[in-house]
Amino acid sequence: MKTGIIGAAGRMGRALVQAVHASETMTLSAAVDAPQSSLIGTDAGELAGLGRLDVAVAGRLEDVVHDADVFIDFTLPEATAHHLSLCRDAGVKLVIGTTGLNDEQWDHLRRVSEDIAVCIAPNYAIGVNLTFKMLDMAARVLGEDSDIEVIEAHHRHKVDAPSGTALRMGEVVADALGRDLQQCAIYGREGRTGERDRRTIGFETIRAGDIVGEHTVMFAGEGERVEISHKATSRLNFARGAVRAAAWLADHPAGRFDMQDVLGLK
Ligand code: NAD
Repeated sequence: MKTGIIGAAGRMGRALVQAVHASETMTLSAAVDAPQSSLIGTDAGELAGLGRLDVAVAGRLEDVVHDADVFIDFTLPEATAHHLSLCRDAGVKLVIGTTGLNDEQWDHLRRVSEDIAVCIAPNYAIGVNLTFKMLDMAARVLGEDSDIEVIEAHHRHKVDAPSGTALRMGEVVADALGRDLQQCAIYGREGRTGERDRRTIGFETIRAGDIVGEHTVMFAGEGERVEISHKATSRLNFARGAVRAAAWLADHPAGRFDMQDVLGLK
């Protein structure tokens, strides 16, 4: 399956090029980065430390959109929204790793996914998706009698907070308990906060150094505490998961999917 990487010069983009190269069923056929990037025209394989692959990084998806059956986009929300339209017009499938989409961008994604297959997940690591399943179970057993906190840590370059994965974890827990995350989430605490309300779900964010991505959900009751944690030590985990999602889309002409669909966890 011919695969294109959008954001190919980025941290995740380079890992994605490595993961496609390592795949037996996928071939790297296109690479794109921001038009203003100084790396336009360089070889995507060389950028990823693999040596020459004869795929030059293009500065606009428009120029290479017909060169792949599926694109994998790990960029910025506004860029991803534009790429969605281009992929729909070209009839090409899209795997999205970009986090931090706003409501308008989500609505656009829903409309586009009526015409083409789109997979979007805040975290493509297989272990994290298993963790979502475990959180659902823990929330059902412990949730009403526990204070629930989501704690996440990422590298200093990450631009959105809390992470998309932390928010998804909060949603999974809130859904299991019949709560609306929008209503019950508390983001960070400072000053005289008053006593904790058990029906809230707290989020704490750490941004430091080169932490790849760590998430813990704490269910703290009277006399015992359960913590479910996931720690990513390499970006290749996310990249391998996204490439697996791209391969899975081959059998799906249209629709909006996530990694739980890809892994058969629904
Ligand atoms: P990064 O800044 O290292 O890379 C982003 C790349 O996108 C850069 O090379 C940038 O030049 C490029 N870009 C920006 N605008 C573009 C455009 N219009 N067209 C093409 N390329 C463009 O960031 P990163 O650490 O690789 O993360 C990228 C995104 O992926 C973030 O939203 C991050 O939160 C998300 N992410 C998701 C997962 C997941 O599993 N879903 C895992 C890690 C990171």
